[in-house]
Amino acid sequence: MPKKHTAGTSVCGQCVELKMEKADYTFKRKLKFLKKQRGQGTELISIYIPPDYNVNEVVSKLRDEAGQAMNIKSKQTRKNVTSAIERLLHALKGTKKTPSKGIALFSGNIGGRIELYNIKPPEPIPVQVYRCDSEFFLEPLERMIAPKQVYGLMTVDRREAAIALLKGKHLEIVKTLGSQVPGKHRAGGQSSVRFERLIEIAAHEWFKKVGEIASKVFDDSWVIGVIVGGPGPTKEEFVKGDYLSAVTKKKVVGTIDTSYTDESGIKELVEKSGQLVGELEVLREKRLINEFFKEASTDGLATYGLDEVLEALTYGKVKTLLLSEDLEKKKLILVCPHCGKKQEKIVDRTPNNFGKCPSCGTPLMLDEEEDLIEYLSDFAESTSAEVEIISTETPEGEQFFKTFGGIGALLRFK
Ligand SMILES: [Zn+2]
Repeated sequence: MPKKHTAGTSVCGQCVELKMEKADYTFKRKLKFLKKQRGQGTELISIYIPPDYNVNEVVSKLRDEAGQAMNIKSKQTRKNVTSAIERLLHALKGTKKTPSKGIALFSGNIGGRIELYNIKPPEPIPVQVYRCDSEFFLEPLERMIAPKQVYGLMTVDRREAAIALLKGKHLEIVKTLGSQVPGKHRAGGQSSVRFERLIEIAAHEWFKKVGEIASKVFDDSWVIGVIVGGPGPTKEEFVKGDYLSAVTKKKVVGTIDTSYTDESGIKELVEKSGQLVGELEVLREKRLINEFFKEASTDGLATYGLDEVLEALTYGKVKTLLLSEDLEKKKLILVCPHCGKKQEKIVDRTPNNFGKCPSCGTPLMLDEEEDLIEYLSDFAESTSAEVEIISTETPEGEQFFKTFGGIGALLRFK
């Protein structure tokens, strides 16, 4: 049996980190944002540079493209493409050596401004790409995202079987099957020995079929562990027998008793899986949210809402910061170009106009912009609070976002 592990540490080959890394989250979030952007014309530029690729070659390619952009008919598109290329050239200036995972840059007119996005890829960039289109080209980065914690779950007895994949927080029932194996205690004219033999042959065929289908699903390299459930000793016989492929067999973490072998049996497996693999992501999230609901509804050790949570963070009261992944706010730092006065503002989206300086009336300018989740996570980590990004894939997560605005905290003290 593999070792149990605690959140945030990986222990054995079959286990992976339980918590979604903040870096992962940030990467996914940035991709989601870039995916939404559309250009007025063919004017959003994507550049991919693999590690060890000569940056100078890309720079001269960009200069060529800038030359060709002069031929673009639409004045606005021409201006946007040229400015985007300038931003890219500026960003590449001084890069002598490509970083170990390569470079992914995106530039274009977003909301009236020429923006530049430098995305740090989690894996090495495999291709060199220059693409100018009405949307950003994200496929090479999208391929790098995959759920980390994929478990194969199955229940089996002589009558039924179910096969499922638990992908992070998402449970997918792949197949449910029913058998033709006759019951053991059927009265009849046949000799009982012969009847027993027929039953055993039918059962063997049934397990073979289930094993084949399950192996096809679980052989996939993303599946890091397989848990087999069911009532009674049949599941152990199934695992020990010659029914699963060698690859899948190696992934079997253990067996768990369940009352059912249909879909509800699979759900039982998820609930009881802690016996074998430590706390699954989906259960950890559920536990934290339920604790939060309980504390919040009894005026206990919880708080919610941006101002309340910020205050609790400031006084070091936060034990666990809970943030909904659907939270799409930004923290802006605005600066007065005249008197230098700075102020912070939380907004849903970056406005075109930032208002006027309260001291001297000069229009304010944007100094810094940060994703609110990143800002709050960094703040929490600096006070040694834990941070949990809560998905909206579970009913609890959805309720957290809708009822509590997606910002909450479990407190150490009040
Ligand atoms: Zn001012």
